[in-house]
Amino acid sequence: MNVHDSERLSGLLESAGYARAGAGEEADVVVLNTCAVRENADNKLYGNLGHLAPRKAAHPGMQIAVGGCLAQKDKGEIVRRAPWVDVVFGTHNLGSLPALLERARHNAEAEVEILDSLEVFPSTLPTRRESAYAAWVSVSVGCNNTCTFCIVPALRGKEKDRRPGDILAEVEALVAEGVLEVTLLGQNVNAYGSEFGDRYAFGKLLRACGEIDGLERVRFTSPHPRDFTDDVIAAMAETPNVMPSLHMPLQSGSDDVLRRMRRSYRQERYLDIVRKVRSAMPEAAITTDIIVGFPGETDEDFEQTLHVVREARFSSAFTFQYSKRPGTPAADMDGQIPKRVVQERYERLIALQEDVSWSENKAQVGRVVDVLVAEGEGRKDGETRRLSGRAPDNRLVHFAPGDETPRPGDLVRVELTYAAPHHLVSDAPVRGLRRTRAGDAWEARQAGPSVPASRSVGLGMPSLGVPAPLPAVTSACAVD
Ligand code: SF4
Repeated sequence: MNVHDSERLSGLLESAGYARAGAGEEADVVVLNTCAVRENADNKLYGNLGHLAPRKAAHPGMQIAVGGCLAQKDKGEIVRRAPWVDVVFGTHNLGSLPALLERARHNAEAEVEILDSLEVFPSTLPTRRESAYAAWVSVSVGCNNTCTFCIVPALRGKEKDRRPGDILAEVEALVAEGVLEVTLLGQNVNAYGSEFGDRYAFGKLLRACGEIDGLERVRFTSPHPRDFTDDVIAAMAETPNVMPSLHMPLQSGSDDVLRRMRRSYRQERYLDIVRKVRSAMPEAAITTDIIVGFPGETDEDFEQTLHVVREARFSSAFTFQYSKRPGTPAADMDGQIPKRVVQERYERLIALQEDVSWSENKAQVGRVVDVLVAEGEGRKDGETRRLSGRAPDNRLVHFAPGDETPRPGDLVRVELTYAAPHHLVSDAPVRGLRRTRAGDAWEARQAGPSVPASRSVGLGMPSLGVPAPLPAVTSACAVD
């Protein structure tokens, strides 16, 4: 979600006339889009700001802006600790960034603007999409849950749902630009519809995506097990362009820990969803997030997490050691677990998950899959002379291209010949290459000047004047 917010910030600035600084060029404006979910976000922010201070002193007129969750949390504290910052904006007013930069420049003083709630759905903002073939599409922002480890509700507010017509219009516009794959985004994506009173809205949205011509792959992240109704499983299984992959955060396998986390499902409910998904889509890859060492977690609780990992057979898992987030209920709970114990459990979990991932991947060898060729997914592609992409179940595949080199966005059909725990390899001859509109779009981007930010497809929430926005993370977070 934060990556997508950064795309919006880039789009906004490009629409306001800014251009991306080239490699090695001194930027006139630096925007830090912060996250408060991961540990040490504030240390990283103030460390980065410390590095920027002498750069700014040597570059008169340079402006520094800080946005995102940490800005929402720290508000005016940022300019007190780093008075060389020009603009601070929060999670609810991304759209104000160009105006705030302008005002700070004009008044020669810092502008801090933090709103308490969202004014305009951020998808109404221009967006500078990073990829020509795959795109994020927000269906909702905020979350109505109150998981005790999570800072998201405090910083992103209550769930706001976008109208289905607005979402579909955005998807159609993206497809018209060449995009083949969309990932529907929401903090609690399958609760979509709760704001307008339709608990089946998410399944209907998936089916509606199935009707869009030219849209080949639909994914979503992240669903909450509590809201995972059977109609969503049916919609996934019966809609050909909805991919057989599911990322569903577990967090803990222990009912007691789940209760203290204020996660309203229990182990049995979670495993029941996994069984139903596997029965409807035997080829589905299921991934998860797990937190180790939540306050009060006993050895027995942790064994329950291992039990679910063995039963659910996740193809991969994002694993996190619990760490306190100031402002969350869990930060003040009794029973904080010593680091040594958390570390030991964490290593056991990783070892088990590696075994499961590897054996699940080995079972893929011999299968023939269609890989959507990606850009920047294979760090060793240069050395190995392979290209990389994603199979329908979202597994990473490195393959040896044939005589004709596919472009990012093209589709190749390959046989999987080797499995490692975190990726698959195909060294067999490519069985088919389909050059796609997405590949054409990628090629056009390489040839031409940078693609202008696409104006948002109208819509979203009713606008109350100035557009407003949200913040950012880069890697996976232990939240939904
Ligand atoms: S962990 Fe997910 S469901 Fe829980 S409060 Fe945070 S965003 Fe909401």
